[in-house]
Amino acid sequence: MSEMICITCPMGCHLHIEQISDTEIAVTGNRCHRGEAYAKEEILSPRRVVTATCAIDMSSGVANSYYSENIYRPRRVPVRTTAAFPKERIPELLSQIYALKVKLPVTAGQAVLHDALGTGIDVIATRTM
Ligand code: SF4
Repeated sequence: MSEMICITCPMGCHLHIEQISDTEIAVTGNRCHRGEAYAKEEILSPRRVVTATCAIDMSSGVANSYYSENIYRPRRVPVRTTAAFPKERIPELLSQIYALKVKLPVTAGQAVLHDALGTGIDVIATRTM
């Protein structure tokens, strides 16, 4: 038996988890069905929204003119996944993100990596540069 707190709403129910098998758990202590769904996802297939930064492709003239016109000169583009990503694959995803070189200009919301690792989840820029 293990315990966790449901963070789906401010009620913060204390959930009691009993592992029945590798693919099945029993949840008690939840005041609504969302608590059970939260515990199942968190234990059986945890996911997280991933935030990171990508290098800028400095080989283009656009990047150089951006840098000559902006006093604040960030060296990397902030990015995030468009949805929660399978937790066990996050290191693999970060390797791909860190290998990217993003061409400027880039717009907030623009995909810099489509269908990351075949999950159907994109990685998008979170800043226009
Ligand atoms: S189980 Fe339901 S009521 Fe309790 S914290 Fe989770 S969402 Fe809120």
